[in-house]
Amino acid sequence: MTNRRVLLRNRPVGEPKPSDFEIVDAPLPEPQEGDILVRTIWLSLDPYMRGRMNDVKSYTAPVELGQPMVGGTVGEVVKSRDAAFTPGDFVLSYGGWQAYHVAKAAGARVGPFGPLKLDPQAAPISTALGILGMPGLTAYVGLYDIAQPKPGETVVVSAAAGAVGSVVGQLAKIRGCRVAGIASTKDKCEYVLKELGFDACVSHRVPDLAAVLRDACPKGIDVYFDNVGGDVLKAVLRNVNPFARIPLCGIISQYNATEMPPGPNLAPVLVNRVTIRGFLVSDHADRLPQFLADCSRWLREGKLKYREDIVQGLEKAPEALIGLLRGQNTGKMLVKVGEDPTRR
Ligand code: NDP
Repeated sequence: MTNRRVLLRNRPVGEPKPSDFEIVDAPLPEPQEGDILVRTIWLSLDPYMRGRMNDVKSYTAPVELGQPMVGGTVGEVVKSRDAAFTPGDFVLSYGGWQAYHVAKAAGARVGPFGPLKLDPQAAPISTALGILGMPGLTAYVGLYDIAQPKPGETVVVSAAAGAVGSVVGQLAKIRGCRVAGIASTKDKCEYVLKELGFDACVSHRVPDLAAVLRDACPKGIDVYFDNVGGDVLKAVLRNVNPFARIPLCGIISQYNATEMPPGPNLAPVLVNRVTIRGFLVSDHADRLPQFLADCSRWLREGKLKYREDIVQGLEKAPEALIGLLRGQNTGKMLVKVGEDPTRR
């Protein structure tokens, strides 16, 4: 048995290319005392992976050339050298772009990336990478803890049909807010309006987004959950209310940029006494139990919905990540790496 892996071959300049990755077969790793050997079923693809391909200092180290790309995974334990796990258990871990990996089970800290034993009866196991996983927790913490929206306020979220944005809008509706999404295409807007119950949705591919947002948010914007930065943030700032809150979650419009574009004019931040706050989900593992309790219940009750955008086979991961950064996904982007025995 061999272990198929996707390695980082070159550091991309601008948009990544398939040749920046290399697919290799390696021997199966052997678990040591306190380890588990996991067969990957689902691999999460996330925008932060683009940053890990650069050799720059950030909040975590870059992927080294010749090493497998990193990523959250859901898999099945095939060998265990830890009393807490037995073969056949399903587990959330940080296995990266490979068919098998060894995870430290003993004494490991349980955060948004596990390792965490999953109950397939409670929710589909892939949701541990999406609505009940890191993207869901990001939405929950960024909206409820940082923006703290009040019933009746207007919440705007960009990348609204994506993994984080789709949850932000639904959580804002549960709180009793009016919600407007920003997404690229008509199909994505229809999805967030009809399936997710947002009140409005506008495309960012219009000549005057600020004017379109003014019509979509007649009472102004109290919370802007920013997933993209750049021109979209610029347009939102022209519509903010006094004391608006802006959790800065992501800047996907700049992840492939080769030079930094001129920044937005922050005058409305000053005159409206707006709070802008950057946050990283990895600082908020303490909110995981409350997030899981609330969101699992809302999922069971049908108050939260989700979509998965699935590509088949580890070999398709590079193309799929390139597509995600272009906005080709709707919902949580996942790679199906191996057979899921819970979904026959
Ligand atoms: P998504 O599933 O939302 O996919 C990314 C989406 O971004 C695309 O589908 C596309 O949607 C949109 N997009 C891409 N380029 C642009 C652009 N130039 N302008 C406007 N929109 C664009 O990804 P996630 O939900 O996983 O992540 C959303 C954001 O949250 C990312 O920026 C990510 O880095 C960030 N994040 C931050 C975390 C934190 O701890 N702070 C944790 C997790 C995620 P469309 O077609 O509608 O344009």
